[in-house]
Amino acid sequence: MRRVGPLVLGSDTDPALTDSLGVADRHRPRASKVTLALSDRLSDLSVRCEGGWRVWRLARRIRECALNEYGWRCDHPVCPRCSARKAKKYRERIERELRALRPGVRVYHLTLTRGDDTIVGGRKRLLKAFRLLRRRHSFGQVLGGSFQVEVLPTNSGSMKWNVHLHAVIFSSSRHLPLADMRAAWLEIAGVDDVPGSLCLSLVQPFPRSDRGSTKGFSPVAFYTTKRRRSELLAFSDLQLREFVASVPGRRWMFRFGSAHRGSCKQQRLST
Ligand SMILES: [Zn+2]
Repeated sequence: MRRVGPLVLGSDTDPALTDSLGVADRHRPRASKVTLALSDRLSDLSVRCEGGWRVWRLARRIRECALNEYGWRCDHPVCPRCSARKAKKYRERIERELRALRPGVRVYHLTLTRGDDTIVGGRKRLLKAFRLLRRRHSFGQVLGGSFQVEVLPTNSGSMKWNVHLHAVIFSSSRHLPLADMRAAWLEIAGVDDVPGSLCLSLVQPFPRSDRGSTKGFSPVAFYTTKRRRSELLAFSDLQLREFVASVPGRRWMFRFGSAHRGSCKQQRLST
């Protein structure tokens, strides 16, 4: 069966993408196609916005990254091609952590969401709220984990941005106190009890017979690494402007607790 992961960036029939590609670009790798399309979009944007020379410079930089055939990479966080490489490294790190788990440790996928009017403020408030949540009693059975913050424009509601994080968390507990966790989260984050503000699911990263191979636990690792896909092409001018101004220079991937050290000894979390 063909494995489908986050590095497959959208669909080839994506109209926003195919419209902006020339014939010669159709045979390029998918990440390069998205990067070229984004570069064109940013070039258009640069002539219409204030401080457009920065946007134009970014457009030129990621275009060079997409067209370079000698291994040069721009390493810009907005570049879809370089984001795909970072996502791959992140996924491989999670896979190593999962392989190193001692028997009996369970893996959960936690999603926390809150709306905000700005990307920078939303990221800051989400990180602070998660830090406070990790100190609560309901989170005491969690040993550690890795998480990544994502932002997407909201389609409805009063807030402009959906700021959320996907965390892979490790616990030796069979049942995490979901109701208590949710109550604590609603109080700390100051969000309404809407579906999706806190989601927790147990994932079985690998079947017992398949321990040590990547097969079987890819869903959780893939899910946490989806970011910066061709969704950027669907952003409005204002949204794209804020996105490219806010994302660079900030950390978006984190880990906490002890799981990343290769074992999951029960110990107090350092947050
Ligand atoms: Zn790049």
